[in-house]
Amino acid sequence: MRIGVLSETADVERRVAATPETVRKLIALGAEVSVEAGAGAGAAIPDAAYAEAGATIAERAALIAAADLILAVQAPPTLPGARAGTAVVAIFAPAANRATVDAYAAVGLTALAMDLMPRITRAQSMDVLSSQSNLAGYKAVLDVAAEYGRAFPMMMTAAGTIPAARVFVLGVGVAGLQAIATARRLGAVVSATDVRLATKEQIQSLGAKPIFIEDEETRAAETSGGYAKEMSDAYKAKQAALITETIAKQDIVITTALIPGRPAPRLVTAVQVASMRPGSVLVDLAVEAGGNIEGARAGEVVETSGGVKIVGHKNVPSRVPFDASALYARNLFNLVAAFWDKDTRAPVWKRDDEIVKGVMLTDGGAVVHPVMQG
Ligand code: NAD
Repeated sequence: MRIGVLSETADVERRVAATPETVRKLIALGAEVSVEAGAGAGAAIPDAAYAEAGATIAERAALIAAADLILAVQAPPTLPGARAGTAVVAIFAPAANRATVDAYAAVGLTALAMDLMPRITRAQSMDVLSSQSNLAGYKAVLDVAAEYGRAFPMMMTAAGTIPAARVFVLGVGVAGLQAIATARRLGAVVSATDVRLATKEQIQSLGAKPIFIEDEETRAAETSGGYAKEMSDAYKAKQAALITETIAKQDIVITTALIPGRPAPRLVTAVQVASMRPGSVLVDLAVEAGGNIEGARAGEVVETSGGVKIVGHKNVPSRVPFDASALYARNLFNLVAAFWDKDTRAPVWKRDDEIVKGVMLTDGGAVVHPVMQG
């Protein structure tokens, strides 16, 4: 089994799909590992560190042609020279990248999408959405703090007192919870809201104040998979009023709200942004999914005429490239190891397994995943 680790070609991507640690573990399973020259550069992992771990450093074309299994962070749109039957494990974002999925099927590649990993206990160690969102939530707070011309903690000094920053987090999934924890560690006074009522206790347990609409709809806002549903217009109106009232008193707003398979909900309007005092900063972690904040632009820090900044960095996990790579690479290793067959020294993707059914996009020349039908 020859495993090839690609260098990333996507814009704003500094992560890498294997680290020297996971290379060692893959070799211990019985695989041969090749790493594309320079693959770890964005995460400050030199080729020499991979070589020391036992990998061969290879050029892209040779690596792709030889590989039985290819590991990447973002699936490249095409893989010229790849052999039919080669498995590719990566993030595919299939809803936005239908052409990539079709291209993989057309040449007989087996595409395994880490971003479709089912949220079941057995797959927790393979859950890239969680491992990457956690770091995104952390980095969002640091990004916002860097743009904010004031301090986060309350400071009592001989020259007088600096008040603590007031931070409001909208969307309390994996990223939101880490944003709350990080802002609290920096000394901010934090409040937070979500549509899923289950998050109320989690917010309180992190020492933040929950701001909630509690009605029949919030009691049923969570799907069996633990995700949010799209809410009714009546709920949205109540939520908008609550946000208007809350936001005017905040210094910092962090939004992370996503609805799987739908555009991100618009939670903060330009009027609400304008109600914040000059110097306030917002960050929109959903900016690439359509955005939670009106006026946010992907890849930019926008400053409004009222002196409020809206941070919209792309690919925030990639802004913590070393740790994001370390966790992503372990997620990948855990998937490969879970399906590894000791006798043949190769992974066997059992087609009736819940995890394989969850992640397999293409197989035997066809697009096979239910999310791609219709
Ligand atoms: P996500 O990235 O899909 O969304 C982020 C947050 O935005 C969610 O909390 C969601 O409820 C919230 N949101 C959506 N619409 C909103 C709106 N209109 N207003 C306010 N908030 C809104 O979510 P996620 O971070 O992937 O986590 C979702 C849930 O899945 C969490 O409960 C998490 O603990 C759970 N989870 C379970 C597993 C597992 O069982 N293996 C793994 C990871 C996460």
